[in-house]
Amino acid sequence: MNASATPPTPDQMYQAYAERDASLEGVFFMGVKTTGIFCRPGCRAKTPKRQNVEFFATTTEALSAGYRACRRCKPLEPSGSVPDWLVQLFTDIEKDPTRRWTSADLTHLGLSPSRVRRWFQHHYQMTFHAYLRARRIGLAVGQLQTGSNVTQTALESGYISLSGFRDSMRKWIGKAPSEVRGTEPILVERILTPLGPMLAAGGDSGLCLLEFADRKMLPKQFQRISKLYGPTILPGTHPVLRETARQIQQYFAAERESFDLPLRMEGTPFQSAVWHELLQIPFGHTRSYQELAQRLGKPNAARAVGRTNGDNRLAIVVPCHRVVRSDGHLCGYAGGLWRKKRLLQLEQKQ
Ligand SMILES: [Zn+2]
Repeated sequence: MNASATPPTPDQMYQAYAERDASLEGVFFMGVKTTGIFCRPGCRAKTPKRQNVEFFATTTEALSAGYRACRRCKPLEPSGSVPDWLVQLFTDIEKDPTRRWTSADLTHLGLSPSRVRRWFQHHYQMTFHAYLRARRIGLAVGQLQTGSNVTQTALESGYISLSGFRDSMRKWIGKAPSEVRGTEPILVERILTPLGPMLAAGGDSGLCLLEFADRKMLPKQFQRISKLYGPTILPGTHPVLRETARQIQQYFAAERESFDLPLRMEGTPFQSAVWHELLQIPFGHTRSYQELAQRLGKPNAARAVGRTNGDNRLAIVVPCHRVVRSDGHLCGYAGGLWRKKRLLQLEQKQ
């Protein structure tokens, strides 16, 4: 275990990984962007390039960001070895991470449900069900974000049509299709841009999500849209998504300054007000959080405006990238500061 009082820097973590230094075991996990896999520090796998990795403090964070566990170093298994009495349970979970477990299932394996719950709480600081949920979300979103294995070709051609994704998403959201008949399905398609792939989601009622595919908040955003607009989220295309792709491509080709798309941006009255105000910021201009708060008649709400700006689900189209600090500094952007910079540069040039 690392005895140092301060957490290691990303460079130190990368170094530890490259040297198979197991002394940082438990301190961090490393996600490899090119493979969508995350590892323990002591993993024997080939060391990826520095620019292709990111670090997480917990397995939950890595799972929620869409990574799946490395088969070699098995980061989801506790450090050391899984106690004998849990080996079968872990094997079964990894065989089918989408399976829902009841107390009766655990009893059937000869396990005491309360002992299992205590063990997960103690080793992962989360409940058994939270662990399973994180695993499922990672599976569903991971497939979309990384376009892994069999899905690669389908994703790159712009069409997502894989039954594995459909199953994961359905199990993740927790409803069988028969229970949700009558609600409009939300279709998800991948759009390629010069700043990396984006995911667009929507249907007959409009576009409800447009986000960079590597964004950490993505699982949460999917949960929100499923709560707001219905639980059926399927890979597929739709005229609204094709039109979104067309207009986004025009925007990046400097052929479009504003968007003409049906948008779904339901939220609290405050959120709606902020997001509508964002739509008023003209192409090529920026506004500060303070200015926005003033325009909304809430001069003291600059912080809340900032938060709501970050909760925007329609990147680029609802231009949250045009909001800067009062001193002109760029400050945070959920899709990454470098993207905010590039978007503003693109708009300045014209
Ligand atoms: Zn590994």
